[in-house]
Amino acid sequence: MSYQVLARKYRPQKFSEVIGQEHVTRTLKNAIAQGRVAHGYIFSGHRGIGKTTIARILAMALNCQSQDHSIPEPCGVCDSCVEIRAGNSVDVIEIDAATNRGIDEIRELREAARYRPARDRFKIYILDEAHQITDAAFNALLKTLEEPPGHIVFMMATTQPEDIPQTIRSRCQHFSFHAVRFDDIVQQLRDIARQEGIAYDENALAMLAEVGDGSMRDALSIMDQAIACCGTTLSGEVVRGLVGTVSSDVLEDVMDAVARNSSADVLRAIDRLLVEGQSAQHFARQMLRFLRNVMVAKVAGSDSPVLQISSDERARVARVAERFSEEDLARFMQIMLRTHSDLGYKQEQRFHLELGLLKLVHAQRLLPLEELLSGETGKATAAGSSLRAGVGTSRSAGSAAARTNVTSRATSELEPQSSREPAASLFTRPSPFEADRKRKSEPKAEGQPGFAKREVAPAPVLTSSTTAEADSLSDNASPAMDAGVATAVALEPDPSPQPKNSEITVKLAREVVLTALDDAGQQMLAHNLEEAEWSVHGVEVCVTVAMSQVLIDVALGPEPKRVIQAALSRATGRPLKFKMMSGGAQVAAKPAAPRPTNGAGARNRAAADPIVQRMQEKFGAEIRTVIDHKDRG
Ligand SMILES: [Zn+2]
Repeated sequence: MSYQVLARKYRPQKFSEVIGQEHVTRTLKNAIAQGRVAHGYIFSGHRGIGKTTIARILAMALNCQSQDHSIPEPCGVCDSCVEIRAGNSVDVIEIDAATNRGIDEIRELREAARYRPARDRFKIYILDEAHQITDAAFNALLKTLEEPPGHIVFMMATTQPEDIPQTIRSRCQHFSFHAVRFDDIVQQLRDIARQEGIAYDENALAMLAEVGDGSMRDALSIMDQAIACCGTTLSGEVVRGLVGTVSSDVLEDVMDAVARNSSADVLRAIDRLLVEGQSAQHFARQMLRFLRNVMVAKVAGSDSPVLQISSDERARVARVAERFSEEDLARFMQIMLRTHSDLGYKQEQRFHLELGLLKLVHAQRLLPLEELLSGETGKATAAGSSLRAGVGTSRSAGSAAARTNVTSRATSELEPQSSREPAASLFTRPSPFEADRKRKSEPKAEGQPGFAKREVAPAPVLTSSTTAEADSLSDNASPAMDAGVATAVALEPDPSPQPKNSEITVKLAREVVLTALDDAGQQMLAHNLEEAEWSVHGVEVCVTVAMSQVLIDVALGPEPKRVIQAALSRATGRPLKFKMMSGGAQVAAKPAAPRPTNGAGARNRAAADPIVQRMQEKFGAEIRTVIDHKDRG
């Protein structure tokens, strides 16, 4: 007797024997039982999951001769059933659409479809790979599907249902097949191995199922190969050798080396694999798959149904998942994804693989910048100091300390005391990001003397005419005056609020505005206003300066305007208008004494900034260029 491959020998002959597609078989059986058979079916899904098999069973059920009507489960023994199974029934025509995709073939099919079946109830066309049929050919088929003769049933199997024209799809019943679950595949393999009288270990079956990746036929093909190779005993080792997968032990070892920050061990592992003849690309793909499973185990737990792996593998990925954070794993996956796609078109694959895996080791040492700057935790301190100073021999010690599971031991034993001390003292202040958040949430919070405060002014309430003016002013202002730019990192702390006073005098207005501008670093504008002529009309403070209107527009940008209005409102407890007008006559007749400048320039303010200082301490940064947006006005 000639040999038959397992996938054909154990091909299901009844709906009840099909695994993993109950949603399809149940519907089809009910449809036949109720006599509601459609004229067109589309079976879509991954390769090797039973599309053509179910099409054939459906054909058998429709044409079975054991009764005088179609039956939900074919008998499997009548002439019709036997012929369909053998593929030589005259009334069931299987067409490989990949090679018969043109309009001529479909026209021929259409002509033939007009004639009644030779013997059976239905004339059934099974079109495999139906998405390959050309558009013109589909159009030729359309007419037949629109008004099908009663004896015709079309079944289209495809992996890409979206490539079938909508006009065809809407005239067919569409069944979408599921990937076969890992456990179902293993169970099926087990049954077949028993029936074949083959001894097996579970490991081997799990590996076959994993390689099958949801496809029963793929799993069975490799099983065939394995049986041919090693006779009546299936072992995990043999299967692995056949499919060329890297042992999961190796993957775990590599991740272990990454966790230990041992670049040397990672390189050794790659060397061993490549010497054994593994391909770099294949290994990268497996690593990626492994990391993905670890990631899923980390996020959803190792018993998650999303993981289609054996229980041994579950335990393994759970072990690895414990050693890394979710962020680490996401970063690893990203690196491996890039490495894998690089390997696709690059020469020197080995180097790319090595580089990619070394990146995993390095990625693991990375700390969020915020964590590093604030040094909120001990691990950040340790890593920070080793990063900063590159502490001699303790490269691995310092960086290992950055990781959770080995942190405490490594930190206490290996981290030199001296490098810890100064590092710790750096971090007595709160994180600048924290401070920033705090500042934004409570605008009036004082009590962070080390930090610059941005003046948060109560929004000035303006009358409509002034609003329009303010808008036009800000439109004219130079783009560099954009309010956000001068965030005043180096602004002085808020002056104590002026006493509330509903009456405003020229003297008070002048004092308030000049002080506020000085404090805000607007010395130029303050200087100009000091020499100007001030007047108060009701709720309007008017200043006439010896400047052209254009210059005024530039000088009084949105930021100074905001500062002035805020100061005036604070002083008087009510909104006031502030106006600068051009008055050429009042050229400075009495030159005022030079005002002391407030602070020693932008560079000093920058140097005094706590974030800048922290950067200098941590990274040895130097101040090269200082751009003071405020002085551009
Ligand atoms: Zn039959």
